[in-house]
Amino acid sequence: MGRVYNFSAGPAVLPEEVLIRARDEMLDWRASGMSVMEMSHRGKEFISIARKAEADLRELMAIPANYKILFLQGGATAQFAAVPMNLLRGRRKADYVNTGHWSKRAIAEAKKYCEVHIAASSEDRNFSYVPPQERWELSSDAAYVHITSNETIGGVEYHWIPDTGDVPLVADASSHILSRPIDVSRFGLIYAGAQKNIGPAGLAIVIVREDLIGGALPITPAIFDYKVQAENESMLNTPPTFALYMAGLVFEWLKEKGGLAAMERINLEKARLLYDLLDSSDFYASPVAKADRSRMNVPFTLKDPALEEEFLRQAKAHGLVQLKGHRSVGGMRASIYNAMPIEGVRALVEFMRDFAAKHG
Ligand SMILES: *Cc1c(COP(=O)(O)O)cnc(C)c1O
Repeated sequence: MGRVYNFSAGPAVLPEEVLIRARDEMLDWRASGMSVMEMSHRGKEFISIARKAEADLRELMAIPANYKILFLQGGATAQFAAVPMNLLRGRRKADYVNTGHWSKRAIAEAKKYCEVHIAASSEDRNFSYVPPQERWELSSDAAYVHITSNETIGGVEYHWIPDTGDVPLVADASSHILSRPIDVSRFGLIYAGAQKNIGPAGLAIVIVREDLIGGALPITPAIFDYKVQAENESMLNTPPTFALYMAGLVFEWLKEKGGLAAMERINLEKARLLYDLLDSSDFYASPVAKADRSRMNVPFTLKDPALEEEFLRQAKAHGLVQLKGHRSVGGMRASIYNAMPIEGVRALVEFMRDFAAKHG
């Protein structure tokens, strides 16, 4: 079997062109005589790779000049702790909106550092929607408001940016960053683990407004102190060099594809293909409220759960893999990140139609 269509939620599919380029540069990066993996992170070759990655990301997301971009380790999970450690700035409380699995993980970690106030929750309907802003109860003394802008497991996505007034808005955008243009200036901080929609695991990206930097709790480890990392261009210690190089290749690929507006058009089309099938079928169903459905992670159920194993087995035989839903929610899930070509979604939809016709 050659390459499959990989619907994994993460680590996830990467653009084939990027993998080919990395393969071609593997042994000898641009006449340096060595692999990127073997380079000093302080050498001019690697510094050029890191600076280009940062500049390309800034251009792709139109990140204003008063925001720092940090390339860190520890995944998005490290940021669950680093965000309160850095952003409390003398305050004691932070607001969190609870929309499911990853919100809960962020909340549990933040509770070690501050008083967490749940400003809104969608737990009443099994995390199947985003609570509308009218129902949020924000605290005036919160240091920041935290949202999970795309719940990777529940498949629930914000298609609007909350208004939190003067209180900085913080978003865990791990599973939909770069899937569409966003107005970065509406956020105090955006963070994302790389292994969903950016590159290989081992890298996390933090985009943070400069005036929020510099007030870290004294216990903050230096590697998680945004000020220290910003002053050291994310190289206080050895960064995950190969992951950063790969992310940079993905940024170049995105620019070649026409940037985030072009990605959004393709992503909308991919999501529409899949949701149209789910909505028009009585064999499949989507558990998520229509207005809040994720364009990146599409959970779905089969009418008869006893058919799930057969579905997965036959899908795999068609080269469609990693469709099993997260163990905490069951069912199926198709993650259709930027790197999933529309042909992969078409192949999935066609397979699902045939499967429903045979087993419905
Ligand atoms: C995957 C994921 C995380 C955890 O990421 P790690 O890099 O494994 O720490 C956090 N938040 C969201 C929304 C995710 O999808």
